[in-house]
Amino acid sequence: MIAYDLKCAQGHVFEGWFDDEASFLSQQKQGLIACPICNEVSVERIPSTFAIRSAGAASGPEAPPAEAVARRLVDFIRHHFEDVGSDFAKEALKIHYGVSSPRNIRGSSTPQEEETLRQEGVDFVKIPVPAPPESDA
Ligand SMILES: [Zn+2]
Repeated sequence: MIAYDLKCAQGHVFEGWFDDEASFLSQQKQGLIACPICNEVSVERIPSTFAIRSAGAASGPEAPPAEAVARRLVDFIRHHFEDVGSDFAKEALKIHYGVSSPRNIRGSSTPQEEETLRQEGVDFVKIPVPAPPESDA
């Protein structure tokens, strides 16, 4: 898997994951890559900042792939999901019932709140996210 930083014709920057470069080019050509913000399918690759971001960390080319993937996933979620903190269950329900505008959110919830979400038929995914670094630039 390879991650590319992409930009749509409207100027939204987002990240896409592909099997390889050929796969990206093929999907781009067929208009299969849509901007998550505006659904624009006219997207282009922008120079990746991956090398810069990984340079300061303890990881390098020798880093275990699983760890690198987890790092990228957490990074993606940080950038693309609004942090609602402990209001996650409340906010998820609001979105579910159309009170709040639909969007990606992240946060924490108690087991009891998760049970409520399940009963209400709200889709959510739990992933283990390491504590954010002290200085999150
Ligand atoms: Zn867009």
